[in-house]
Amino acid sequence: MVIIMDPRASDEDVMKVKHIVESEGLQTNLSKGNTYLIIGIIGDTSIIDSKKIQVLTGVDRVMKVQEPFKKANRLFKPEDTIVHIGESAVGGGRIGIIAGPCSVESEEQIIEVARRVKEAGANFLRGGAFKPRTSPYSFQGLELEGLKLLKIAKREIGIPIVTELMSTDYIDTFVEEIDVIQIGARNMQNFDLLKQVGKTNKPILLKRGLSATIEEWLMSAEYIMAGGNENVILCERGIRTFETITRNTLDLQAIPVIKKLSHLPIIVDPSHAGGSAYLVEPMAKAAIMAGADGLMIEVHNDPENALSDGQQSITPDQFDVLMTKVKAIAEIENKEI
Ligand code: PEP
Ligand code: MN
Repeated sequence: MVIIMDPRASDEDVMKVKHIVESEGLQTNLSKGNTYLIIGIIGDTSIIDSKKIQVLTGVDRVMKVQEPFKKANRLFKPEDTIVHIGESAVGGGRIGIIAGPCSVESEEQIIEVARRVKEAGANFLRGGAFKPRTSPYSFQGLELEGLKLLKIAKREIGIPIVTELMSTDYIDTFVEEIDVIQIGARNMQNFDLLKQVGKTNKPILLKRGLSATIEEWLMSAEYIMAGGNENVILCERGIRTFETITRNTLDLQAIPVIKKLSHLPIIVDPSHAGGSAYLVEPMAKAAIMAGADGLMIEVHNDPENALSDGQQSITPDQFDVLMTKVKAIAEIENKEI
């Protein structure tokens, strides 16, 4: 349920409504914009008599929220959420480009890729240190050594870093050292992990699960937000369908659907979606055209010898071309990279 207040309602009017709702044992969520003031209610709202609320001074109208996600719901907060990370921002007309190798492999590799993607206009460096691999015999990542190398690249090149957290064991280290914490597709419903990152104040990049519905994905965002961390960026990375020629099927419709249902920013990862380098540029362009707030792209300086996901990694030269085109599309869309 949301209570839409008259934007001219006094602080006392708002406090009174909040007090009445909270005295029923429910939680409230206040959202204030230039033209609106909304009190969102979280909990079992069936105990509230909306007619009694409707007549209170300062109340414009009361609306039921059908969806199970509340804090992530656009009805709770009509304005786009903008997640700020240093000088960059994602959402509300600001596009964030995250680029870098699938895995951090060596100091030379990560510094070289960081330099090239930054020169091309990327705002963030990605690189997996802890890798969720389907096979236990595949390269598992350099782990803590990988984090150290990411930090060196950040310092040398001056670019914020994004990397995946797989277990709550390392959460304190990530909070201290990483700019954006990625929750991978395979962990989208690791509720313990979601609850723990919800207690931090770090921006969280939440990837869509391999077979997660949009509602399940938003419920995972809700877990993070329920803990108090509202800096959530969603990432569409393709879903599993009957198609086998592509690694996954990129659900571009998720972009406008998320925009309708939620105020959270959504970016697209065309690398894991298609699983092939040739699909990255067309799908990156389509994503920005469809309204995405950013991209996550795998870039490797030597894709043929990459320790993971070489087949879907583009080279720095290809990334230069992609960025030129994406910048042109962003301009048409009136957005800033
Ligand atoms: C990744 O981005 O490194 C990754 C493993 O992606 P996903 O979780 O989407 O499979
Ligand atoms: Mn990868």
